[in-house]
Amino acid sequence: MTFLKNEKKIILSLVDAPKSYVDGEIAEKISVFFKRKVLIDFISIPLEKFLNPIRDQYNSTEILKYFIFNHPIENEDKNCLIVRKDLFIPILTFVFGEAHLNGNYCIVSTHRLCERFYKRVPDTKIFRKRLLKEIVHELGHTFGLTHCINDLCVMHNSFTIEDTDRKKEYFCEECFSELDDLL
Ligand SMILES: [Zn+2]
Ligand SMILES: [Zn+2]
Repeated sequence: MTFLKNEKKIILSLVDAPKSYVDGEIAEKISVFFKRKVLIDFISIPLEKFLNPIRDQYNSTEILKYFIFNHPIENEDKNCLIVRKDLFIPILTFVFGEAHLNGNYCIVSTHRLCERFYKRVPDTKIFRKRLLKEIVHELGHTFGLTHCINDLCVMHNSFTIEDTDRKKEYFCEECFSELDDLL
């Protein structure tokens, strides 16, 4: 895929994660939803710095801060970090992801998207579906969308994996038209 200079992009930054996570369909759908080209990048972040040893989880806010400091934004690109570690923010037991509302950065964890986490047989299809939903959700925030009460809408807040599985990978009619105005 070629990019024009100054063209606004969505960058999916894989942190120690394989390209296969976001290959093909996921990148393509994200590009269609947000009307931007999608670039897949591989980056390295010293995640151990952000480990809370008591919780055995990683502080997503601090990871984002570190990333922003070291990767200043260009062209108003939207950047989504994809990490395999379990993430938290201090007030919650865990988060699937975190985003800067109306900003340029978000982060998604794959840790709780795999069936293995729930002591079930891993299923690539289920995993990729969940990952797509979580990426679309967090990117939606960066474009200015807030949580939606419609539990089938991708902008519905997920507290459990069942919430993620219930909702669709796309926007409800209202969020769709709101996004359309924001794009
Ligand atoms: Zn959210
Ligand atoms: Zn909605």
